[in-house]
Order: sequence, then structure tokens, then C-alpha cells
Amino acid sequence: MAHDVPVIGVLALQGDVREHLIALATADAVAREVRRPEELAEVDGLVIPGGESTTISKLAVLFGLMEPLRARVRAGMPVYGTCAGMIMLADKILDPRSGQETVGGIDMIVRRNAFGRQNESFESAVDMKDVEGDPVEGVFIRAPWVESVGAETEVLAEHGGHIVAVRQGNALATSFHPELTGDHRVHGLFVDMVRAEQGRRSL
Ligand code: GLN
Repeated sequence: MAHDVPVIGVLALQGDVREHLIALATADAVAREVRRPEELAEVDGLVIPGGESTTISKLAVLFGLMEPLRARVRAGMPVYGTCAGMIMLADKILDPRSGQETVGGIDMIVRRNAFGRQNESFESAVDMKDVEGDPVEGVFIRAPWVESVGAETEVLAEHGGHIVAVRQGNALATSFHPELTGDHRVHGLFVDMVRAEQGRRSL
């Protein structure tokens, strides 16, 4: 799996896959859709997109991806989840739908739809640690927030007193959708995380 240019997958079961593929390509990665365990095995990092976390969870189980996803995240593969993807990376959901499972990887508890319904979606500038320059444009669509984090989880951004971006080791998550803004600095941060992991593995 030693690629010169990082090859980053986007979990393509449901959600805004295309926007992530474009954002990753703009941030100098090779981006690919991932739907099958064999495709997951080929990538250096993975984005889990926004969409509907219950649906993504059910399809991941159906496609035989849930266990391979957990195994790769546990083994240190860099992973970035936006919105529903953030929910998928939470070790615990406060209000899961019945049968809803997560991949886990970030020691946090998330609350689904915490910022309200679809028609309460909003945009706001968010100051995000590790992203240089101006605040990022946070697009929040039925977004979750993080209720609490464990000792190993770093808070990268808050909005209105609620945690909206976190990192634990090689796992990154945002409540909002940088892939929808044309500003690809957060994807750039993730591509840098993938490169750093590739560097460590080639030592
Ligand atoms: N509310 C959705 C969920 O629970 C997430 C919304 C989104 O990804 N934009 O999965």
C-alpha cells in the first residue's frame, strides 16, 4: 500500500461522496470510491461523508464493511468523518436509532441532529485549530455536536459552546461540511495526516 501520492477513499454507500472526491483531488490526493472490503484494503486513508448515519451504518453492515472498517481504524488508518461521518467515528451515540452501529475510533459521545432539523441548517465561521488563516466556513446540516470527549481526544473547534471538530490520533471529525464550501483546507489537513502516516510506515 505504499503509494507516492496518498490514495484516499471515500466511503460511497450514501451521502455527499462526489463533493469529497473533488475536495480530496484539489488537496493533491488521489481519491477513490470505496464500497467493498477489497477497495478499502487499497487505500491509505478514508473519508466517511455526510448523509444519514443510520443508513450508512446499515449499508456498511450489509456490504460486509463494518468489521473491516473497525479493523483498519484500530490499526491506525487515517480517517476523516464529516457530519454523519463524525457520528460513524464516535465510540458512543447518545441517541442512536435502533440497530445503529458505529465504526468508532474517537473517544467521544455525539448527539445526532443536535443543531436542529433540516430547515434549521445554517452557516457560520468556525475557528479551527491546525487550519491556518481565516476561520473556515462551517456548513451545518442537521448536524451533530459532541457532548463530551475522553482524555485522548483533542478539541479542534467549538461553535456556540458546543464541540464541532475533534481529533484523536489519526481520526479527524467535523460536525460541518468543508467539502461543500470550495475551501479545501480541512481536506488539506487530512491529506497531511495521511502523508505523515505513510512517512511513519516507510521508516
Ligand atoms: N443528521 C444526520 C445523521 O444523523 C447527519 C446529517 C448530515 O450528515 N448532514 O446522520
